[in-house]
Amino acid sequence: MIPYSRQNISDADVAEVARVLRSDFLTQGPEVPRFEKTLSDYCQVPHAAAVASGTAALHLACQAMGLGPGDRLWTSPVTFVASANCARYCGADVDFVDIDPLTFNLSAEALRAKLESAEREGKLPKVVVPVHLGGQSCAMREIRELAEHYGCKVLEDASHALGGKYDGGPVGDGRFSDAAVFSFHPVKMITTGEGGAVMTRDAELHEKILRLRTHGITREAGLMHSPSPGAWYYEQLELGEHYRLTDLQAVLGTSQMARLGNFVAERRRLAARYDERLAGLPLQFQREEPGAVSSRHLYLVRLENGRRGEVFAAMRNAGIGVNVHYIPVYKQPYYRTLGFPADYCPEAERYYAGALSLPLFFGMTEAQQDEVVVQLAKALKN
Ligand SMILES: *Cc1c(COP(=O)(O)O)cnc(C)c1O
Repeated sequence: MIPYSRQNISDADVAEVARVLRSDFLTQGPEVPRFEKTLSDYCQVPHAAAVASGTAALHLACQAMGLGPGDRLWTSPVTFVASANCARYCGADVDFVDIDPLTFNLSAEALRAKLESAEREGKLPKVVVPVHLGGQSCAMREIRELAEHYGCKVLEDASHALGGKYDGGPVGDGRFSDAAVFSFHPVKMITTGEGGAVMTRDAELHEKILRLRTHGITREAGLMHSPSPGAWYYEQLELGEHYRLTDLQAVLGTSQMARLGNFVAERRRLAARYDERLAGLPLQFQREEPGAVSSRHLYLVRLENGRRGEVFAAMRNAGIGVNVHYIPVYKQPYYRTLGFPADYCPEAERYYAGALSLPLFFGMTEAQQDEVVVQLAKALKN
């Protein structure tokens, strides 16, 4: 089976993890801050907090932004469930903003319309979570402007987009948001096994996230309620989680970051090769958002013939690990129990009915890619 994505682990990655395994610290040593420095340098942003997963990063960012019961978080329906679940962990409500039919990203126009009516009803969201689908940035300039006008925070779900660019700068640099989140799951742009990070320009938000990732505990005298009686002393100021990344994971991330440029370049080369070879087929391709350079985490197509189910099955039978990104989140039984109808967002429905992700990863051979093209053409013809 040719997978839709997979990690690439070098001898240097293995040597680095082995070095840390033999060192004094398996966790809470020097490798987590070193990884954070590598990430923040790469993204040209002052603060990075490495955490246990992309989901943990979303949860911590929401918690640090003060999201709670009675508040609302809006996101795209075409995303992994974690982009919405982060609000539920905080006791807040979720709503979905429909996608743009051409870029498949959360639509800035739909957001504008929804914000206008929410303002009239006094139901504005506290946090908006644009998701950079497949590694392609949303229209962040427009989204940021709207959020500023209506007084909402912006949390980018950039789980797919490490190595991508927007408006001339790296995704994650925080020019158009309060914070951005990455995931380091093995199918993503780089991996730490499981892992994630929150990038921000906001020093106060960053300090809160650092505290919340380790139970809400502080050792800073300035923050404590009582004078410290000795070096053993710490205080828990609020209810946090245990969402730390280990040094074993962090060193893998630092080692992987050295090759991120190669990962992106090769994914983009292969994606361009797909573009050429699939051009004549009855497919809709993800249109580039103006100013965005996609990391090409995913190669998404939308079948125009209404036979996605059959084509998906034929591809899997032919050993091609196609996938679907994503089932609109409101369709999940859990979200249906919260009152969402099964066809809540028309554009997301239209996209989902034809959505297919083709294999794309660093290390994929041209022969493998040609096999995907041949099998897809065959499946579409039958
Ligand atoms: C992978 C992913 C997440 C969650 O990341 P984990 O590291 O698996 O917790 C969140 N949002 C999107 C869009 C993702 O693809």
